[in-house]
Amino acid sequence: MTLQRPATLTDDFLAALVARVPSSDGGSWKLTEVYTGELLVELPQSTPADIERAFATARAAQVDWARRPLKQRLEVFKRAHTLFLDRAQVTTDLIQAESGKNRRMAIEETCDPPMVMSHYLKRAPKLLAPVKRGGPVPFLTTSTEIRQPKGVVGIIAPWNFPFATGISDSISALMAGNAIVLKPDNKTALSPLYGVALLEEAGLPQGLFQVVCGEGPDIGPTLIDNANYVMFTGSTATGRVIGERAGRNLIGCCLELGGKNPMIVLDDADLDDVVQGAIFGAFGNTGQICMHIERLYLPESRYDEFRDAFVAATEALRIGAAYDFGPDMGSLVSSEHMERVKSHVDDAVAKGARVLTGGRPRPDLGPAFFEPTILEGVTKDMLAGVTETFGPVIALHRYRTVDEAVALANDTEYGLNASVWGGDVANACQVGKRLQSGNVNVNDVLATAFASKGTPSGGVKQSGVGARHGDQGLLKYTDVQQLAVLKKQVMGARPGQDYDEYVKSMLGGLKMMRRTGIR
Ligand code: NAD
Repeated sequence: MTLQRPATLTDDFLAALVARVPSSDGGSWKLTEVYTGELLVELPQSTPADIERAFATARAAQVDWARRPLKQRLEVFKRAHTLFLDRAQVTTDLIQAESGKNRRMAIEETCDPPMVMSHYLKRAPKLLAPVKRGGPVPFLTTSTEIRQPKGVVGIIAPWNFPFATGISDSISALMAGNAIVLKPDNKTALSPLYGVALLEEAGLPQGLFQVVCGEGPDIGPTLIDNANYVMFTGSTATGRVIGERAGRNLIGCCLELGGKNPMIVLDDADLDDVVQGAIFGAFGNTGQICMHIERLYLPESRYDEFRDAFVAATEALRIGAAYDFGPDMGSLVSSEHMERVKSHVDDAVAKGARVLTGGRPRPDLGPAFFEPTILEGVTKDMLAGVTETFGPVIALHRYRTVDEAVALANDTEYGLNASVWGGDVANACQVGKRLQSGNVNVNDVLATAFASKGTPSGGVKQSGVGARHGDQGLLKYTDVQQLAVLKKQVMGARPGQDYDEYVKSMLGGLKMMRRTGIR
């Protein structure tokens, strides 16, 4: 049976979306439906000159946007929150067509921007309000901390959560008074373009949010050179390139990068919960979640029991291409990425790892499908043992002591996410605190941490610099301006005053302020 494309994705609808991309030389990129490999739309490509023009337009719009009272800016996001949820099914169609993920993951992704909006609608007024601090001389001086927008923020987003990373990361920046120039991945430009259309429908000024398209190395440098701040999500290798260029330009950047995330199962963990968690951790989003699990550490005493249950549950998964909620797992994003995932499995097998289940492409389901795969015997001389595979592939390991499990989990250059499972939650938390990881989930794999929008979420070690969410997820898009006021000139010696006298009173004053706790 041929796959029916969703009725929402008409040629006119897609053409209107891509018409938003500034492109002067007529070049385009073939954006295909992942499930079938068929052309969806020709995506215009932006030249460096187009990007400079996009920045000029965004910069002009930003001046007026930043002048608007915060309350007015937030009104846009109140309307957008409703609109995003009302149109979630259309967004889901777009996300599925361009990424090949299953519908369950795609609809969950559509919920991320509204959740981020909801959090910062509550929090932004407090974070952006001027804060009065005491000046050096009580009563006669004041110092106020003022949050100014950076200007135009460049956002570079990956293909695995194109709508969440492209749109969610822009929300707090816009609330703070910035403009945005977003570069999505070519493969997945449609859902972020739709997100911008929705924001404009909710009242975001035209021109404030630009989307430019092209291959990263071609247009990335121009984007970074014109931006006042860069928010990047992607691989560690590219993050290093972005960070170097931002450093040279003396602009700030936030880098959300890759992981090789471990899950430790303690011996008092519930078997069914663990299996359910591991299924999502390993195969959710077809294993293409930055926080997903690639290394599973099981206690020696219960290894066989967990392994057998996990393999059985994996073999029961329904895999397929469908624009409905049927399949448990969808496709990888492209044939090229499928080949990379396959190469990790082939390399592991060639070096002695065993495939417990899966391990093969599924061309019968679509060009980029790969079976959910469980490996045993993966070591650090294998690609799958050290580098991020970013596919539905997980390696099982046994441990004898908790110290050993912690050491193995920490034996990686990454530090994005980790998961600990145990019946004794306090004990599991103690184990979690020993892990070198920016996020640790206890009795969950990733969703609890990622959906907690009030807490910063970022990577340590080679998994990133900075964080999204939490107060710093908004404040990073601002510069602090200090406004200091001296109401009466009292600092320094008075005319005619002996300087020794003045120094004595100044030193005495400092001691008095310390004693009384005034300063
Ligand atoms: P990638 O680094 O190849 O590409 C990410 C983005 O950067 C794309 O838009 C790409 O076009 C662009 N890019 C590539 N080279 C560039 C350059 N020289 N200058 C400017 N831009 C450039 O990553 P990917 O394969 O698209 O995404 C998967 C990776 O993203 C995985 O490593 C995953 O772990 C990571 N990721 C991390 C997070 C997180 O929050 N930590 C979230 C999602 C994905």
